[in-house]
Amino acid sequence: MKKVLVIGGGPSGLMAAIAAARAGAQTTMLEAGAKPGRKLLLTGNGRCNLTNLNEHIASVYDSSDPEFARGMVHSVFSQFSVQDTLDFFHQEGLLTSVEHRTYVYPVTGQSASVLEILLRTLQALKVKMKYSEEVIEIERRDLSPGSEETGCLWNVRTKTWNYEADSVILSCGSRAVPATGSNGSGYELSRMLGLDVTDVLPGLTAVSCAFPSPEARAYVPGSRNRAASGKKTVEDPFLAAAGTRTFAVVSVLSDGEVIAQERGQIQFTQQDLSGIVVYNLSRSVVRALHSGHDVTISLDLIPDNTEEEIESMIHSMRGKFDGISDEKILCGLVPSRMIPAVLALGEQTGSSLAHVLKHFSLKASRLRDFDSAQVCVGGVRTTELNPDTLECVSEDLKGIFLTGELIDIDGPCGGYNLQWAWSSGYTAGTHAAQ
Ligand SMILES: Cc1cc2nc3c(=O)[nH]c(=O)nc-3n(C[C@H](O)[C@H](O)[C@H](O)COP(=O)(O)OP(=O)(O)OC[C@H]3O[C@@H](n4cnc5c(N)ncnc54)[C@H](O)[C@@H]3O)c2cc1C
Repeated sequence: MKKVLVIGGGPSGLMAAIAAARAGAQTTMLEAGAKPGRKLLLTGNGRCNLTNLNEHIASVYDSSDPEFARGMVHSVFSQFSVQDTLDFFHQEGLLTSVEHRTYVYPVTGQSASVLEILLRTLQALKVKMKYSEEVIEIERRDLSPGSEETGCLWNVRTKTWNYEADSVILSCGSRAVPATGSNGSGYELSRMLGLDVTDVLPGLTAVSCAFPSPEARAYVPGSRNRAASGKKTVEDPFLAAAGTRTFAVVSVLSDGEVIAQERGQIQFTQQDLSGIVVYNLSRSVVRALHSGHDVTISLDLIPDNTEEEIESMIHSMRGKFDGISDEKILCGLVPSRMIPAVLALGEQTGSSLAHVLKHFSLKASRLRDFDSAQVCVGGVRTTELNPDTLECVSEDLKGIFLTGELIDIDGPCGGYNLQWAWSSGYTAGTHAAQ
């Protein structure tokens, strides 16, 4: 019977162990923490958005090598699809419900139910689960030419024990939220094996932004229309907008060229732009910033009206209310806390109000750190792996498989990253057992 060792008890490792055991392998899982699935419990604000019914799911993923990665996602999803995932959970006793047309959650509304179902399945399959076992080294042992068996075995060392296996599945996650156990040690183990790992950056997180030039940061409201004396200075109009939620079309420009765009609710916080659309776009922002590009976030704050329509409305307001200030005009166009920011940008760029409302541009400076990132952008290069099996392509690494976030593939918010974990785990587990 083939021996399979899974390193990491996150969603991809748990699914890999289930698949390997179902395919007949004697399977052991080693988890560094005292409990498995710590990050899984945090997902979807504790509700676990476990997959997405998007018909074009394979096209949403990104990577440093997008073309190769999409081929890999396609192959892996053809072996364990979204429907296979739903069937798996239903057969194991977890019912799901759909929100916002495509977002799938457990009917219990609790990520703990998803973890419980996985652990129950592993137990029934008699998978050995070892906790507080952090893997620190993986070594190849070639079988001597004269012996009955050919090929190699893998020695896997933890601080307390040595394990031996025919196949090893690395499911150690990324560095996003290191407190959950994804502390980057999977990248270290991969490097020790000679695998090429890209730079790893925080993804699906808020973006720190500032006005393009510092002059706009000390703005006196109303100074455009009347004497500024007696008016309170708004130290930084961007900060003044903190707490505002509004709808916008958000574009990311790298050196002036639009590289990504999404429409949805955004939120201004003390230093950042936040919200699901910003999280999704953060994957493009961080890649562009890391490559040294100048990155601008441009907000269309009134996406359902053209600039001409807004211009003409403002013109008619000026005609109707004699001497009306820009501030007052903006009352009906943007949330009140954003008014100083819109006025300041207009003054700084010399643009009309209508133009600023359609092109509210901020300079992206950085993303938050790994503690508040939901995933990592980057990882072990996809070209190191056979896209059909997720086994390493190097002859020296036959029997080593990778899954989940450790691989340089990331998806947007909406259940896509967990679906990658389920599908990649199932594929690697099945092939590792063969
Ligand atoms: C706050 C938050 C909310 C999220 N919400 C969603 C959501 O709703 N939907 C969605 O699709 N995705 C969501 N994600 C992303 C999703 O959780 C991850 O993509 C997914 O958990 C990755 O699974 P994984 O198995 O690859 O790694 P992980 O879940 O990170 O698991 C890796 C495991 O390996 C263990 N490990 C690491 N190194 C070693 C070692 N050397 N030896 C032994 N064990 C080791 C770790 O302790 C950990 O248990 C969210 C992420 C966060 C942080």
